[in-house]
Amino acid sequence: MTDLLPAIFFGHGNPMNAIGQNAYTKEWHKIGKQLLRPKAILSVSAHWYVPETGVTVSTNPRTIHDFGGFPEALYQVQYPAPGDPALARRVQQLLAPQEVRLDESWGLDHGTWSVLKHVYPAADIPVVQLSIDETKPASFHFGLARKLAPLREEGVLIVGSGNIVHNLHTYAWGRHPQEPYDWALRFEAAARERMKAGEFKELINYDKLGRDATLSIPTPEHYLPLLYVLATMQQREKVHFPVEGVDGGSISMLAVQVG
Ligand code: ZN
Repeated sequence: MTDLLPAIFFGHGNPMNAIGQNAYTKEWHKIGKQLLRPKAILSVSAHWYVPETGVTVSTNPRTIHDFGGFPEALYQVQYPAPGDPALARRVQQLLAPQEVRLDESWGLDHGTWSVLKHVYPAADIPVVQLSIDETKPASFHFGLARKLAPLREEGVLIVGSGNIVHNLHTYAWGRHPQEPYDWALRFEAAARERMKAGEFKELINYDKLGRDATLSIPTPEHYLPLLYVLATMQQREKVHFPVEGVDGGSISMLAVQVG
């Protein structure tokens, strides 16, 4: 029997974290050293947000540079982790009767590689990505993700990559030091309390949490990967926060570990 692996949500933040060294990336690196080595990784990234559920099935997923206006060095980054077609098919089987398309065209987007570059720098653990169906509500995603929980007993590390608070309209982009906005801190604190209590209902219905939530989650794609991680929680498990901080005033870098 394989030991139960945790599931981890990473706040990925600025793509430049991929090639930088800072408090966040150092913690990411530490997480990789502390975890049991997974056989494979299933990543749910904010940046594969499309009108269907798909899973990458290629043996050599390409490194996708899905951003604009960054320094050339960031476009040179490669994360040559292999794929894992058997895991892709296992995901398809677990999620049935939901239709899951085996995808040959996507690869690893920066939500995945900007973090994994620090967690597993050798890129020697196979990685599969699962898309987020943009046409479906949060409750659908939570329900779908519950079916993925058995993977944690099969040596698969489930990773969500997004940001609990993600407002680019107010983000300082490193131009000047920016204290975290009150609404960002309040929403993050409220979310933490509910996670610690294992009360996910309000987090699924986040659109009813008021103005702080509206400002923190102006669009759902960076928030939904959190639900994919929380949904795999088993009885008596706890939630930990191995990485903390708010970048540029309005990007929460909080990492959430289940198990
Ligand atoms: Zn992002």
